Amino acid sequence: MANSKYEYVKGFEQNDSLLPQTWIVIQVDGRGFTRFSQAHAFKKPNDMQALFLMNDCAKAVLEDISDVVFCYGVSDEYSFVLRRTCTLYQRHASKLISLVVSLFSASYAMKWTQFFPETELQYAATFDGRAVCYPSESILRDYLSWRQVDCHINNQYNTCFWKLVESGMSTTEAQDTLKGTTADVKNNLLFEKFNINYNNLPQIFRKGSIVYRKQVEEVGKKENGEVIKRLRMRIVVEHEDIIRNGFWTAHPYILS
Ligand code: ATP
Ligand code: ATP
Ligand code: MG
Ligand code: MG
Ligand code: MG
Ligand code: MG
Ligand code: MG
Repeated sequence: MANSKYEYVKGFEQNDSLLPQTWIVIQVDGRGFTRFSQAHAFKKPNDMQALFLMNDCAKAVLEDISDVVFCYGVSDEYSFVLRRTCTLYQRHASKLISLVVSLFSASYAMKWTQFFPETELQYAATFDGRAVCYPSESILRDYLSWRQVDCHINNQYNTCFWKLVESGMSTTEAQDTLKGTTADVKNNLLFEKFNINYNNLPQIFRKGSIVYRKQVEEVGKKENGEVIKRLRMRIVVEHEDIIRNGFWTAHPYILS
């Protein structure tokens, strides 16, 4: 294909290559999910099926893009960590973001009926996306910790808020009651007024969800009956603490 006189227009493209050798995090967030969750009668504060659907979409992204090594999801958002050595699309931000966003959004529509067999999808769920580079493992982990802390804080607030509303308060009364309260006060309120032990709420609500390829030992038998053990990578969805070191020291291969 010969160069045409129009080729020069290529020169108007901006180079948006992401810094090499850094961790790339692509975060997607549901657009207008306050409305979307109402339009589809999500249970408040946490609709379990909606979270399962998000997790399955994240799994689809992890399966499709081999450079994605870890995903963290809460509410209508999901963060995808790409390995530092990723060279997909020469690390062009716009290409990487649009790939993840379209894969995620298309999966959401495709999988909808599987998770909401009784609820008709009213309109396409859409997601925005952004990419940020983190230069060290420690800062990447701080990013993930930040998201998990956010999950906890929002969940605690929302659980209190919806309990107060269910008990007959207006939304403004509930807001005023919770304004400026500490975590301890919220925990006590749940326990004393509603007999709820916050720590007994489902882990998925309190910790969010993680998706990754986990090293698991597979035990098989040879024809002669000899037992053989093999290491396999299996995609898993879990709800672990990722703030403390425990998870990362147990799975050092994820960020290696
Ligand atoms: P197609 O996607 O249909 O294969 P294309 O022309 O987009 O065609 P790619 O293989 O995607 O080709 O490669 C992108 C080319 O555009 C590369 O050569 C890259 O250097 C250049 N490029 C420069 N800036 C950008 C940018 N901001 N976004 C995407 N590509 C860019
Ligand atoms: P934006 O387009 O700016 O992101 P938004 O309405 O999506 O606007 P967010 O801050 O992303 O605002 O908040 C997500 C909204 O979706 C919240 O109102 C939250 O309660 C709702 N939501 C998301 N997931 C669930 C779920 N699993 N169950 C119930 N509600 C949910
Ligand atoms: Mg937002
Ligand atoms: Mg949103
Ligand atoms: Mg959100
Ligand atoms: Mg193409
Ligand atoms: Mg093309």
